[in-house]
Amino acid sequence: MINNKIVRFFLCIFPFCFLALVCKAEDINSIKSKGYMTMGTSADFPPFDFFKEGKIIGIDSDISKRIAESLGLELKIKDISFNALITELKNGNIDFIAAGLTKTAERAESIDFSDSYFTASQRLLVKSDSLVSRLEDIDGKKVGVQLGTTADSYCTDDLENIEIMRYDKATDAIAALSSGIIDIVVMDDFSANQVVKKNKNLRLIDGNLTEESYCIGVRKGNLILLRFINETISEMKHNGEIERIVSSYMNIPEDVENSNTSKASEFLKREYIQYIFNGLTVTLEVTFFATLLGVALGTFASSLRIISETNKHLKIFDMLVSLYTTIVRGTPVIVQLFIIYYVVLSGISKSPIVAAIMTLGINSGAYVCEHIRAGIEAIDKGQFEAGKSLGLSEGTLMSRIIIPQAIKNILPSLAGEAISLLKETAAVGFIGVMDLSLAGKKITSITFDPVLPLFAVAVIYLVLVVGLTFILRKIERKMKNASN
Ligand code: GLN
Repeated sequence: MINNKIVRFFLCIFPFCFLALVCKAEDINSIKSKGYMTMGTSADFPPFDFFKEGKIIGIDSDISKRIAESLGLELKIKDISFNALITELKNGNIDFIAAGLTKTAERAESIDFSDSYFTASQRLLVKSDSLVSRLEDIDGKKVGVQLGTTADSYCTDDLENIEIMRYDKATDAIAALSSGIIDIVVMDDFSANQVVKKNKNLRLIDGNLTEESYCIGVRKGNLILLRFINETISEMKHNGEIERIVSSYMNIPEDVENSNTSKASEFLKREYIQYIFNGLTVTLEVTFFATLLGVALGTFASSLRIISETNKHLKIFDMLVSLYTTIVRGTPVIVQLFIIYYVVLSGISKSPIVAAIMTLGINSGAYVCEHIRAGIEAIDKGQFEAGKSLGLSEGTLMSRIIIPQAIKNILPSLAGEAISLLKETAAVGFIGVMDLSLAGKKITSITFDPVLPLFAVAVIYLVLVVGLTFILRKIERKMKNASN
């Protein structure tokens, strides 16, 4: 009897287990069919993950290359903010995370971890002339951490009486420490050692604060991929390959892009100019397409509004447009950007540039719609009445009399909208689009010098805004003259 029940139970769950296995197998098959696998990392963590000559290299990419090889695949690497890695993995934008990622119980609720390939600990990093010499001295101090790392959770959960400053990149925290904005940085020991080697004005405080294991992260339940990864890690541990890779990075060669020099000559390196140039191109591209989308949406929305005002049955359009403008104008553009990239477009488009253009276009459309409405409302009511008493139809009245006058009122505010859109594009760095602002920040994080790159970026924005204002004024004048 009992046996019967057990057999029936297993027969019932068998199809589900089979389905689950097939789905997981599909996951690895879909990776295999692409011919490559994508590793996600935050390339601000030498010697595990860092940029050299524009390429991401380090211990993690060396290990990952071997994993990809074991599956007969090529390895692609994506640089992502550390705190966005798990979301990107869950959204399917990367196949696994290799970022000196510590296995924690909290993270294990969202992703699966491989076996450990390295052990680490948190340490305190201070300026060489700092009076801090042990953990007890940090009371009341400003402590910098990288957002979402174990340094962040250690400081948040285990330390009291400190002011925590959270930075997107570890290198931003180090730049803040170097320039005296904060007193201490808490970060992983091995990476901190490398930073100290390159920055003679920084030193490490003795004593490990935590005990951590670096593991590779995969999507939850992706057991087949996990098995391949674990097999490769185990093989590399046994044949001494991991040890060899680690020791090959013990002394960062001089030309690694981490130095504390802040000379203009350093900033004028061809590579940095390239970052700025590429960033500028992206900023202009996003501004251009988002402006087009914004004007199209804004015109469409305001036309719906006009139509619904003249026809009682179409009131619903007016309500929809009001809802659109209220939502867009009542929420921060960064939140809209996150929602569009991580929720609306997830599974449709993985391109952050598409998300950036869409968000800024939709955002701008709401303002354009309001500018058009204000432009029309500014026209003397008598004109409507005069037109009607002359027997003009609603369409002729709008197209011949109202719209041409409204355009004159609207143009200056549309120009203002395009200019603020250009500046708002700076938000796109939050989803990893390397625009002009992020390019400036990137150079800062490499040179640890915030002054020159950020001023250079500000000057470029200023030139763009002044140039755009000049061009738009000219267009405005021409259109006014033409309509007079
Ligand atoms: N090991 C730390 C963590 O997992 C930091 C890793 C990193 O900065 N790349 O949170």
